[in-house]
Amino acid sequence: MTTMMMTEFVPADIDASTWENLQPYYQQLLDREFKCSGCLEQFLLDLSELDAAAYEAGSDLYIAMTCNTEDEDAKNGFLAFVETVEPELKKVGFELNKKVVTSPHVKDLDTQRYAVLLRNWFADVEIFRDENVPLQTEDTKLGQEYAELCGAMMVEFDGEEKTMPQMGVYQQDSDRAIREAAWRAVAERRLQDREKIDGMFDTMVKNRNQTAKNADFEDYRGYMFAVKHRFDYTPEDCIAFHSAVEQTCMPIVRKLAEERKTALGVDTLRPWDLAVDPHGHPPLKPFEDADELIEKTSKLFHRMDGELGEMFDTMRDGGHSLDLDSRKGKAPGGYQACRDRKRKPFIFMNAASLPRDLDTMVHEAGHAFHYMLCRHDDLVWYRGAPLEFAEVASMSMEMLSYPFLEEFYTSEETKRAIQKHLEGIVNFLPWCATIDAFQNWIYLNPDHTREERTAHWLELCKRFGSGVDWSGLEAEQEAEWHRQLHLFQVPFYYIEYGIAQLGALQMWLHYCNDSEAALASYKKGLALGSSKPLPELFENSGLKFDFTAQMVGTLMKAVEEALDQHA
Ligand SMILES: [Zn+2]
Repeated sequence: MTTMMMTEFVPADIDASTWENLQPYYQQLLDREFKCSGCLEQFLLDLSELDAAAYEAGSDLYIAMTCNTEDEDAKNGFLAFVETVEPELKKVGFELNKKVVTSPHVKDLDTQRYAVLLRNWFADVEIFRDENVPLQTEDTKLGQEYAELCGAMMVEFDGEEKTMPQMGVYQQDSDRAIREAAWRAVAERRLQDREKIDGMFDTMVKNRNQTAKNADFEDYRGYMFAVKHRFDYTPEDCIAFHSAVEQTCMPIVRKLAEERKTALGVDTLRPWDLAVDPHGHPPLKPFEDADELIEKTSKLFHRMDGELGEMFDTMRDGGHSLDLDSRKGKAPGGYQACRDRKRKPFIFMNAASLPRDLDTMVHEAGHAFHYMLCRHDDLVWYRGAPLEFAEVASMSMEMLSYPFLEEFYTSEETKRAIQKHLEGIVNFLPWCATIDAFQNWIYLNPDHTREERTAHWLELCKRFGSGVDWSGLEAEQEAEWHRQLHLFQVPFYYIEYGIAQLGALQMWLHYCNDSEAALASYKKGLALGSSKPLPELFENSGLKFDFTAQMVGTLMKAVEEALDQHA
């Protein structure tokens, strides 16, 4: 145990992977009576530790499964948890939250300490409706059907059956004809399911609008702001962000597109010209294997900051906190997970010597630092942060690493890596605005037709487009949003990345001016976990929670200068 336990309610050796074992403890909490606010506080500590045990069991099972997908027991263990424990946790969690917020003693709790927690729980209780449960189940099911439909898409290419992710590599090919053929093969395959996906989405939108109505909201957007506990910014702020991106980011995006066109020596940029290195450079190779990645990443963080270096080393040396190498049977992707009872982070990835893997390493390390800095909090719900800030912790590390990338690259290669990373940011913001603006329109116009939806999508493509030539590819462009899974599976979840990116860019500028002060405020903000509202988390990290054109403009100007410098 890394921290002192404030409760002995949950036995240290409980096997929290089954509902049978957890249920008696949750029942005790349901039955407990509150005589004073002190009882309530003890109750919160006990519930926190019990939740931590359950979360950790879920994390451990997930880690075991992803580290070896060929292990049937591991897979079954995780699935059993998802099917039998998680739904019960959700139900009992809601009952317990309700018990707390409806207690007469809640008004005597320390408002500083519990404000964020109570604000969230009050909202959850207030918007809950029994009749929405089946609608939400239906929504999840449709989301899964969408995922299955996309997962089943295969194309015949290069003499082989290939998945959509496998087709991605051809977009890096220096041969334009190969890129075009691969791009068309993928787009044609997607279009085969266009009707089906549009139909699925129609049903989802209808259900979602009904969910909002049932909960007495005017529209689904308002409902989702409450669901996502977005109390610190408004839909209007998001709309201001869209305009800010349009005004200040788009000129750079269009300039970069022009430069790309010239470098590639083509008349117009086509959709298959966007991912290839325009100068014909061979791909970068920052490291050979996971051991080298760990060794060099440790050096990178030690050079950035002694304390962060030490923290990274505790993960390396602390036993089973890193699983980085790519091997047969491992699940794809990368993630950072928390083990909430031990209060230890865990990083998973498939390091294949690609620059992207290095980005993932420092990104996930940022999440792990965040967890290590706030794990002292007794309340499990405060050990972590909303995505708008959690991603500041990780995205900042990507940018603060710039001066130390020479651990992995020659100075020439470092320039290229930084250039590419900055371009990625500039190109992401318009896409983020597009997806968010599209969702705004969809749910504010609940009775729209498919034709109107397509028309609005095309309007947004024009507003946030870089001048790519789609002629002859009209149907492909109209259905482009079908590949953005967030629209289907996690509605309204996307703007968070844009907001966090603004935070990370500010952190980077601060770091360029005064690295020591920036790192101190980075740690100060992260140490708060989610115990404070978003603007305070930003403020404590020396950042402004500001989406206006003035802020975005300042950041874009700095990015443009850095791009010129690294060109
Ligand atoms: Zn992240």
